[in-house]
Amino acid sequence: MTLDALLARAARRLLEAGSPSARLDAEVLLCHALGVDRTWLYTWGDREAPLLERARFEALLAARAAGQPVAYLTGEREFWGLRLSTSPHTLIPRPDTERLVEAALALGASPRGRLLDLGTGTGAIALAFASERPGWRVVGIDLSPEAVALARHNAERLAIGNVEFRAGDWFAALEDGAERFALIVSNPPYIAADDPHLARGDLRFEPHGALVAAEQGLAELRHLVVEARAYLVPGGWLLLEHGHGQGEAVRDALAAAGYGEVATLRDLGGHDRVSLGRHAEGGTGGGRS
Ligand code: GLN
Repeated sequence: MTLDALLARAARRLLEAGSPSARLDAEVLLCHALGVDRTWLYTWGDREAPLLERARFEALLAARAAGQPVAYLTGEREFWGLRLSTSPHTLIPRPDTERLVEAALALGASPRGRLLDLGTGTGAIALAFASERPGWRVVGIDLSPEAVALARHNAERLAIGNVEFRAGDWFAALEDGAERFALIVSNPPYIAADDPHLARGDLRFEPHGALVAAEQGLAELRHLVVEARAYLVPGGWLLLEHGHGQGEAVRDALAAAGYGEVATLRDLGGHDRVSLGRHAEGGTGGGRS
């Protein structure tokens, strides 16, 4: 059977299994099995599929038809043009989160500064920012030691040197008040425990702890809003990714904690996705500084 024929059959199978991106999934998995890129596949589609690679492809296809995320099967995902290794210990980087990177870059336009990324996972946000701002020092923190090891591996593989990853529970890996940042960013867990999306698609296979939070998904967002002030320089910004129905609640939390210039940004789909606020200089909003 030719590669083209194999691909067409695989795409049909994934479509029947309910994959929302069946043709693309089939192409990505076949490339992975063959060890080639998609340009090669488009050029040489009339070749016969070698037996060993074909068996490898069939195994990947069966796992995908059973719902396994493509990023876990191939072990990688592109984010901000960076090829990141992924693992079932972390959330899969999503295009929505590039909105957070964009906003952080706009606010962090100066040549030097310090950025903190909380719940860094694969290191996606930290690495994207660090790659664009070589004069900045970036710190990424994650509760999961496996995530920290993966993020370090990604930094090494991409040769991004101005970033450091630590294991810890949010701010616990930092010395209280001794380390301050011009930008603090996070894509924390923000999905409510009873959200039906958790039973669909990739989310079924991703770590629960990276997705789900108490208080209808708002508990960690609120915690970060309150705690971050002690780690921001005066005039520094906190930027948080959140669900599309959480913009108002996050803005309220930011305002109540004394942040200024509070706003919400939309993602490419037009949904509220990132809220931000500025540590008011000499502000009195209940912070410790
Ligand atoms: N944006 C992801 C989703 O809804 C969830 C990410 C998160 O909880 N931080 O699929």
